[in-house]
Amino acid sequence: MKNLTIGIDLGGTTITAGLVDGEGHILAQKTCPTALPRPASEVEATMARMCGELVSQAGMEFKDLKGVGIGTPGSVDGECGIVRFNPNFGYEHWPLAKAMEELLGCPVRIENDANAAAYGEYCAGAAKGRSSAVVVTLGTGVGGGIILDGRIWAGFNGAGAEVGHTVIVKDGLPCTCGRHGCWERYASAAALVRFGAEAMKSHPESALWRLAGSPEALNAKKIFDAYHEGDALARQLFEDWIGYVSCGVVNLVNIFQPEVVCIGGGVSRQGEVLLEPIRRALKEENYARNLTRHTEVRSCVLYNEAGLIGAAYLARG
Ligand SMILES: [Zn+2]
Repeated sequence: MKNLTIGIDLGGTTITAGLVDGEGHILAQKTCPTALPRPASEVEATMARMCGELVSQAGMEFKDLKGVGIGTPGSVDGECGIVRFNPNFGYEHWPLAKAMEELLGCPVRIENDANAAAYGEYCAGAAKGRSSAVVVTLGTGVGGGIILDGRIWAGFNGAGAEVGHTVIVKDGLPCTCGRHGCWERYASAAALVRFGAEAMKSHPESALWRLAGSPEALNAKKIFDAYHEGDALARQLFEDWIGYVSCGVVNLVNIFQPEVVCIGGGVSRQGEVLLEPIRRALKEENYARNLTRHTEVRSCVLYNEAGLIGAAYLARG
């Protein structure tokens, strides 16, 4: 029983907490609305109640737990247990770990949510057993997590690994971060959809019209459906987009030469369709392409559970 921990994925919309065993299996799980905006103390109380329910339903006490881990949005100082800045929640310098330790009476570790998800893939998912991994999540933005020799690498201030905000097109499209030409403006799933919706307007013959009905109703899945039908526009959109994705992945490999790069987000369910062009780009452009040992490219496998499982592994210390 001593190897059990609780992992919490604290999101802007929902909070998910799970009791996780030593092999990374979720034994029990609870979900609650985050119900923002509300004071931090109320969010803490909700998380404590969820943990209490998980523990009591398992016939345990908090002293039986090794600890609780929390993945939260924002810039996180894991050493001090403080969320420095969390614009979505409206909290600054939130002493989350200490507050939860007082409520629960067991050790609490916190980490940025993207880093926690990457750690989940590293400990129990696509990068299990590897020494180093870079996890790239293609969603609304491009998120990342860098794990080197078992440690989450997040810079000296906890704000590192923001791979989506590295510029790949100088003076390119404006980004929410204030820069222009950030990788996520070109390589996120949202970017693929944005480019697709724009291109549809000048391609009335495209299958995208039949599949989506209108540019506003387009999503990434429909672009891939059209791609698999052989639609010329969808093929072009994909080629352009995967070129941007690959460019950023090669950059990351040239910096870190990780043992594995894991591609996550809903689009990663396309599997080899995505992975093969990225591998090809690495074969042609990777600075270390002449060496015998090469970075492997894989799909993430834990999907929505990665954050919770990663947070649970954090609690192991
Ligand atoms: Zn940016």
